[in-house]
Amino acid sequence: MHRAWMGVSLSGKDRIVIIGAGFAGASTAWWLTRLGAESPLVLEQEEFPGVHASGKNAGIARQAERDLPTSALCTLGAEFLRRPPDGFCETPLIEVTGGLLYDASGKWAPLLGQIHRTALQAGAEALMVERRLAIEMAPAFDGAPFDQALFCPKDGLVDIHALLTSYLRSQEVLTGTKVTGFERSGSRITGVVAGSRRFEAKAVVMAAGAWASELAKLAGAADLKLTPRRRHLFHTGPMAGLNPRAPYLWSLNPEVYVRPESGGWLMCPCDEAVFPPCAPPVDEEAANQLAVRLKTALPSLASSPVARSWAALRTFSADDGFVIGKDPLVDNLYWVAALGGHGMTSSAAVGQLAASLILGTVPPVDPTPFSPSRFA
Ligand SMILES: Cc1cc2nc3c(=O)[nH]c(=O)nc-3n(C[C@H](O)[C@H](O)[C@H](O)COP(=O)(O)OP(=O)(O)OC[C@H]3O[C@@H](n4cnc5c(N)ncnc54)[C@H](O)[C@@H]3O)c2cc1C
Repeated sequence: MHRAWMGVSLSGKDRIVIIGAGFAGASTAWWLTRLGAESPLVLEQEEFPGVHASGKNAGIARQAERDLPTSALCTLGAEFLRRPPDGFCETPLIEVTGGLLYDASGKWAPLLGQIHRTALQAGAEALMVERRLAIEMAPAFDGAPFDQALFCPKDGLVDIHALLTSYLRSQEVLTGTKVTGFERSGSRITGVVAGSRRFEAKAVVMAAGAWASELAKLAGAADLKLTPRRRHLFHTGPMAGLNPRAPYLWSLNPEVYVRPESGGWLMCPCDEAVFPPCAPPVDEEAANQLAVRLKTALPSLASSPVARSWAALRTFSADDGFVIGKDPLVDNLYWVAALGGHGMTSSAAVGQLAASLILGTVPPVDPTPFSPSRFA
């Protein structure tokens, strides 16, 4: 059963076809339209957008990252979330709560320093704060082993469903439409095949998340060997006395993070088992991993209850960097993939970069570090 999501009429004309209605595909579609391209067609295999990583992530806008290219896109993306264009969304997209990154092992101070410098270079606000001040901001920190934390005051918590819906609001999205093949003429794709249906394409955007690598092979594109990894989230259910505007807390080692959510804590053990593309099941072992990591990094939350848990896939390239740009082998195929653990925060900048490369307009950042050709 094929149907247009949000009820826009469909036509069979030659156009840009985007595969995947997660943040990668949705933001690229929005930017293509904003930059004046003819409305693209978004094909989504599920009945609704956001069934996978884009609808199941932790909703944390974190700008301070290890590497500059990622941090730059996250910083631009977060700026968009704080100040979206007029009419983009009726409700606020982000609650600016700030975030605190720290090292609970006592061994990773150099990494924290590197992240601090990178964030400043990327244009994000970030400053080291002493233990006492950090605990004042986030009482859950009490008992955690750290002297200093990196405070990013403009980070926050995002309404991910409002964001995804706003990107897609006036786009043509065909849900329940699984792309199964491609038609080629020379080094170009001419048609995208979904079962018995065929869509003419002047360009194709590979934004299929965990499925991108496998699907690209069907198009004769470069084999970028992207790797999906499963990650779990746990919710405690409502807990007394929790400040819903408290900053998120992120320990780098052992890696674990928590953020306020619906009157309780949303908690992540930062697991990363390699997994085939799918809707992954919850593994009971992840709850143990969470408890062990919290015991070291955030003892005050170590025995929190778990009311609900879920898992989804984050997808990585071989060097962990994003893959945005033209395929080395297929002239009119563009990748917007391998967004790892930052695809929501950076989405507005990722879509802008992708759309500018497709249309040949000025990109918002240097596209070189994201180019698929770096793996060729
Ligand atoms: C547990 C977890 C927590 C996270 N927390 C954060 C966070 O706090 N902050 C942050 O910035 N990021 C976070 N992320 C990362 C972020 O969610 C991802 O980077 C982002 O959602 C990736 O978007 P995407 O569009 O590339 O992939 P997806 O959301 O997976 O979308 C790809 C879409 O393509 C569709 N598709 C695949 N194959 C086909 C086909 N053959 N035909 C048609 N459609 C197809 C899929 O159905 C899917 O809807 C988290 C991720 C996880 C899993």
